Amino acid sequence: MQRLFAGTPFDRPPTCERCGRLEAECTCPPPILEPVRIAPDKQTARVRLEKRVKGKVVTVVANLSAEGNDLPELAAKLKEKCGSGGTVKDGLVEIQGDHVTTVENALKVLGYRTKRG
Ligand SMILES: [Zn+2]
Repeated sequence: MQRLFAGTPFDRPPTCERCGRLEAECTCPPPILEPVRIAPDKQTARVRLEKRVKGKVVTVVANLSAEGNDLPELAAKLKEKCGSGGTVKDGLVEIQGDHVTTVENALKVLGYRTKRG
């Protein structure tokens, strides 16, 4: 079979750096980049209530960096505590409804310092 890309960079298919096999044949697990987490007690979460469209309110947790914290996991815990829906958006955890006190308490249990506003 004639090599279609002979003499071009495509002549050499990319190979995996770890197993040396062609990337198409590589079965290595994707590299895990261990994020650098910040200890909860070194952080102060800002908890506040925000109004959204149609008169809805959400409890917003701010001031926790997406790099230093597992925000999706934190959001999952807070949602469970509040029995409410929520999301992570632009580095903020949002829980639907007014759950400021519940969120504050849950954060404290996890070791975070909290501040309203
Ligand atoms: Zn590999």
